[in-house]
Amino acid sequence: MRTSFRNLENRISKLEMLIQPPEPCNCRAETRYHNSHCLLIILRKTARECPVHGFREMGFFFWTARQYPLLEEDDEVCPCPSHPWRSFLLGPKPLTWEGNYAATRAWEQMPEETYHVEDERLLTEAIMDAYTLEQQHWSQKTGRRMPSHKEIVKQVWKRAGERPPR
Ligand SMILES: [Zn+2]
Ligand SMILES: [Zn+2]
Repeated sequence: MRTSFRNLENRISKLEMLIQPPEPCNCRAETRYHNSHCLLIILRKTARECPVHGFREMGFFFWTARQYPLLEEDDEVCPCPSHPWRSFLLGPKPLTWEGNYAATRAWEQMPEETYHVEDERLLTEAIMDAYTLEQQHWSQKTGRRMPSHKEIVKQVWKRAGERPPR
């Protein structure tokens, strides 16, 4: 009797999941960016709210050289000029040797990237500080706290359908 009752309960909760699937968390363990302006635009144009946690955690910020892609969502809003190597990596699959060669040639002919290292550092820090402040304000206003980085990493892996590394 008890078993069948539990079965029924299971069935009901499965049906509930179908009718009202749990909202996905969109928090991140890390966010990559090409430069300060790129980071600013990513933070402006991607969702700032998580349906589960309220505030959307963006994780650790990592600088990435301009020839490499970012997360798919961020590549769509990245304001940086196109780079032949990045276009090649994001281009039609499978990647070919011809494409590799053409992209390398085009990259070699590109002018050197020039920027002021110290200015870039200050700008990037200011943008990250503003993000942290936004999170603190949200916490004060709502009385909610963000889960730990470890917890976020677990969620990200779960979303990817994989087990987190130990
Ligand atoms: Zn979340
Ligand atoms: Zn960019």
